[in-house]
Order: sequence, then structure tokens, then C-alpha cells
Amino acid sequence: MSSPSDRLILALDFPSISTASVFALGCVGRVGAYKVGPVMFFAEGPKVIGWLQDKCGGGIFLDLKFHDIPNTVAGAVSRILRFGVDMFTVHSLGGEKMIRAAFETAKEGAEKLDLPRPKIIAVTVLTSHDEAEAKKLFGGDSVSAVLRLAEAAEKGGADGLVCSGMEIEPLKKEFDDRFKLIVPGVRLENSDSNDQSRTVTPKEAVEMGADYLVIGRTVTQAPDPVRALEEIAGAIG
Ligand code: C5P
Repeated sequence: MSSPSDRLILALDFPSISTASVFALGCVGRVGAYKVGPVMFFAEGPKVIGWLQDKCGGGIFLDLKFHDIPNTVAGAVSRILRFGVDMFTVHSLGGEKMIRAAFETAKEGAEKLDLPRPKIIAVTVLTSHDEAEAKKLFGGDSVSAVLRLAEAAEKGGADGLVCSGMEIEPLKKEFDDRFKLIVPGVRLENSDSNDQSRTVTPKEAVEMGADYLVIGRTVTQAPDPVRALEEIAGAIG
């Protein structure tokens, strides 16, 4: 990575290209990639990916968190390959076989289409879950759940994980540099945490070993989004 902004992934959680465009265009050259999630994808369909590739450049992180039986996930993966995204997410709760199906489909499909294989990123415990919710859902703390889910992701061949900043150190201890770590729920000291629970600052995340930071409302709802982005890049530079 040549500059701090290469680590930044801008989450475009907008209901249309026209509402996202001011942010996406204003951030050209200031972020390494754009994240397209369900809000934008279901509003605009695949054309949003082509729009970003044409107008903004940078990488595309398709975050639809596939979680289904292996055959269905493989079918979905084979359909997104032609979009030429750089990374896409599966949910690690789908387990090793589902993640393996995504990996094999991406590998074979990319070879056939003569495209680079997109990186498979396994989401672990959502950053919106607090410890009480993690205990209800997973029967333990979020770190133990993330480590268990990371094991499935490793066996399934995932290239990276989405985790909160609070799990970076335990993951590094257990898996060293096996995974690219992508961290959402990133907030500046004075910014609103919104519906996120396990938040960290950009500086904390990078010092602990995050490879990429997903930045959403801290920038998109800031009075001056470009300034907020520069503040984040400055904090991790
Ligand atoms: O606005 P904010 O910075 O909270 O946005 C975080 C983005 O990261 C959202 O697009 C959300 O869908 C995504 N995300 C997350 N937690 C995960 C996985 C993805 O917040 N575990």
C-alpha cells in the first residue's frame, strides 16, 4: 500500500447513484475502494458497479454477505464474477463448505473469464453486536466467536475477514498474517457511533494491524466529508 488513503474503503450506503455521486466523486483519489452493500445494490443493481469503475476508479468491495447453502452461494458467486469486483463478502456463519464453494467458484469462473480472482472476505461477528448480544447469539464473548468463525474461514479458503477493531489482536495472535483484516465500525473520537457497538478509532485500528478500514457515516454524514476523510488519512498516516 503506497499511501494511507489506500487503506480506506468508503461505504456508499445510499439509495441511488445520484445521492451517492457527490460523495463518490468527491472522494476520488482519497480512498482505495468503494463499498457497495445491499442498500445501493438493490436500489440500482449491478450498473452501480460499472458507474463507479468508469467514473471513480479505485477498487470495488461488494458487501452482500452471502449466507446460504453452498450450491446457492456458488450460483450467486458465478453471477457476480463478470462485474469485475476486487473483493466480495460471504458470512462465515455459512461455514467451511459454503466458503469453499464460494472460493472454488470464484477461482474457476475467474479463470474462464480471464479475470483476476476476486478476494473472498468472510464477515465474522457484526460490529453492531455488543457483548450482551454476542453472548445471546454465540453463547460466549465476541472474541471467542470471531476466532471460531475465522477457523471456518481459514479452512474454506477465505482471503480476509471483516471484524471489529477489538478482535484484531487476538486474530493476529492466532492466525498471524494469514488474513487481510477489514475493519468497519470505525469512528473518530468525537463522532457518533450510530448503531455500531464495537467501535475503534482509525489510529487504533491501524496500530493494531487492520489492513483496511470501512468508513461510512463518519464521512458521509460529516458536515465536510472531504475534511473528515483527510482527518482519518492523517490519523493513520
Ligand atoms: O456508517 P458506518 O461507518 O457504520 O458503516 C459501516 C459499513 O460497514 C456499513 O456499510 C455496514 O454494512 C458495514 N459492515 C459493518 N459491520 C460488519 C460488516 C459490514 O458495519 N461486520
